[in-house]
Amino acid sequence: MTNVKPYGERLSAVQRELGESPASLLIVGLSSSMRYLTGFTDEPGERLLVVLVPREGEPAFVVPELYAEQVRADTGFAKHFVWADHEGSHDALAAALKDVARSPGPVLVEESLWAEFLLACQKALPQHAFSSATPVLAKLRMRKDAQEVELLRRAGAIADEAFRRVIETPFVGRTELEIAAVLVDAMRSAGADNTAFSPLVASGPAAALPHYRAGGRRIASGDVVILDYGCRTGGYRSDISRTVICGEPSNEVRTVYDAVREAQQRAVDAVRPGVPAEEIDRVARDFLTSSGLGDRFIHRTGHGIGLDIHEPPYIVAGNKTLLEPGMAFSVEPGVYLSGRFGVRIEDVVVVSESGGVPMTTVTHELLIVD
Ligand code: ZN
Ligand code: ZN
Repeated sequence: MTNVKPYGERLSAVQRELGESPASLLIVGLSSSMRYLTGFTDEPGERLLVVLVPREGEPAFVVPELYAEQVRADTGFAKHFVWADHEGSHDALAAALKDVARSPGPVLVEESLWAEFLLACQKALPQHAFSSATPVLAKLRMRKDAQEVELLRRAGAIADEAFRRVIETPFVGRTELEIAAVLVDAMRSAGADNTAFSPLVASGPAAALPHYRAGGRRIASGDVVILDYGCRTGGYRSDISRTVICGEPSNEVRTVYDAVREAQQRAVDAVRPGVPAEEIDRVARDFLTSSGLGDRFIHRTGHGIGLDIHEPPYIVAGNKTLLEPGMAFSVEPGVYLSGRFGVRIEDVVVVSESGGVPMTTVTHELLIVD
């Protein structure tokens, strides 16, 4: 195993999970789960680099030679099966799988492992069934420890700071992409490692499209603008949405805004341990339905967040997962009036014993920008 903290404990926790199932082995490629379990990560690429975690005994890396030294230094793993470019990964993978797959149970595969690598593993282990590792990995990753929560909090504070910066800049006459660049700059200068995703700046009718990004549209007086963005720090992400208006809001904009704000607040207030995830969605949806806007709320209320921007638990009808302390997810109801405008308010909350703790805290008042 490894003594590097907290990875030794996380690997032991995975092995306990495997031990309670028939599974023989877990295979994880370059992904957030590799980072979670070993501390090592990189962009996925064409060279096979996987960690194999057997239900008992030493886990092993199968690693291209050019990464080998870095993986050894970062992870403290004892077992490495190293392959060179001119040899190809076939023999190293076969030797590693033979070494660790000692029982006949199913092989669990992390969901983003490239199909080519999965096929190579299946070829090397023809007697084994393969299935998804998501239930095992999600169970562990959903409950953030204190250090993870601290990183979520730091990422949230940077997003808050970027909001304070962006509302000081003029909106009218500038393009959505220019406003997005202000957000990116502000997060970088506040200490972010990177953005969590490309910022969404949706103005006027585009604000009625929930996953519109940002384009060349010039923002005009009277526009409602949705800002949805976040950053990464120490691998962990923030995600915030605020809706602002250029000039005085109409009564309709104000009514819709107030309804979304109330729905979001009620949903955040409903967060506590033991409540099913779907209940948070129901609270937001019921309020918007009672306001006559339920059919314009066309997405789930939220998603888990951590090393990935979207991860379990999903805050959606049908998800009966009971909330537990340490779970982190967004609460982001929105209303979209096609061709006209939209409103969304989003904060990430972390479940504590006493309720949901928001990671972003800038105002929910409807702000008028220039
Ligand atoms: Zn968002
Ligand atoms: Zn989100």
